[in-house]
Amino acid sequence: MNTTPLELENIYDLAFKALSAHGCDQLNANCVATTVTHAERDGSVSHGLFRIPGYVASLKSKKVNGVSRPSNTYLTQNAIRVEGDYGFAPVSIKVGLPELINTTNKHGVGVLTIANTHHFAALWHETEALAENNLIGIACTAYKPSVAPAGAKKPLFGTNPISFAWPRKNKTPVVYDMATSTMAMGEVQVAARDGHKVPFGTGLNKEGEKTDDPSKIANGGVLLTFGDYKGSAIAMMIELLAAGLVGDLFSFEAKEEDNNDGGPARGGEFIMALSPELIAGKNWNEHAEKFFAQMISLDGVRLPGQRRHTNREDKGPRNINSDLIEKIKSLI
Ligand code: NDP
Repeated sequence: MNTTPLELENIYDLAFKALSAHGCDQLNANCVATTVTHAERDGSVSHGLFRIPGYVASLKSKKVNGVSRPSNTYLTQNAIRVEGDYGFAPVSIKVGLPELINTTNKHGVGVLTIANTHHFAALWHETEALAENNLIGIACTAYKPSVAPAGAKKPLFGTNPISFAWPRKNKTPVVYDMATSTMAMGEVQVAARDGHKVPFGTGLNKEGEKTDDPSKIANGGVLLTFGDYKGSAIAMMIELLAAGLVGDLFSFEAKEEDNNDGGPARGGEFIMALSPELIAGKNWNEHAEKFFAQMISLDGVRLPGQRRHTNREDKGPRNINSDLIEKIKSLI
């Protein structure tokens, strides 16, 4: 793969211009380009510039509103609903998160339900932002079906990611952010293209048998959840929180509605914040630090989020796939 070094500001410009060229106004293009740039900065490459052609496709097909103006409604004193106005999720997050932080600082617990948006990004952006404000963050979202519930041979769940962030005073938060499928379908397709096997049980072939052949999963087969029925239960919970509770589309409904333009389907997101200061008391940070010290004293352990945070310290250019850069330039 040929790569071209790009400074972070040039990554932002490329994303911003591509989005603006297809109807995003300043607010919408800025929110998405910032999310994309942060993903490249942290080495979350699958949610960086790689996503721009999909974002643009959904603007071109008019599925997504590039001039969205999300708005907040208080459902209760500490449950807020963001009406996403059919825009990209980062815009709703920018509008909703400050209110979620305010209410959680008052009440100890806060919930943000985001409806009528299109999510195509990693979730750590939102949970980590909460942790940077000394709050615990939990977020999840559903996507179009590609994953079979435990026992089934057909997809019903999306790859349904969940993220959790724990704040640390004067340190970067501990953050995990993971799909509940064994692997992303994109990675399975790459393995099939390159002739590599995937771990046995990553998915099923079209006859419903477990396989390590990625081409049999990608062509008529289905992915499985991580951890068999345990991951399946978490994927189910995500459907219920991000769709049932938010009042937006379940994965199967998103598939029925989506125009398959290559961009993100419509859906909701569930975000919850908790204040350790109000719930655990003044000593929460020192207490948790003792636990983290125990964890990292064990050989082979690292804290989730550490890889990204180490990448972030590098202020230099990022090596971007040259073909991808050309593709995005051709969209401007
Ligand atoms: P990974 O399997 O790469 O990583 C999952 C988590 O595990 C990360 O927080 C990672 O931290 C942590 N981790 C990895 N290795 C270790 C280790 N050895 N020790 C401790 N922690 C570790 O992520 P996925 O492929 O499952 O998901 C990738 C992204 O895709 C996520 O950001 C997710 O939000 C996004 N996604 C978005 C969807 C959407 O609809 N918007 C749909 C599906 C996925 P670290 O980052 O530090 O490596």
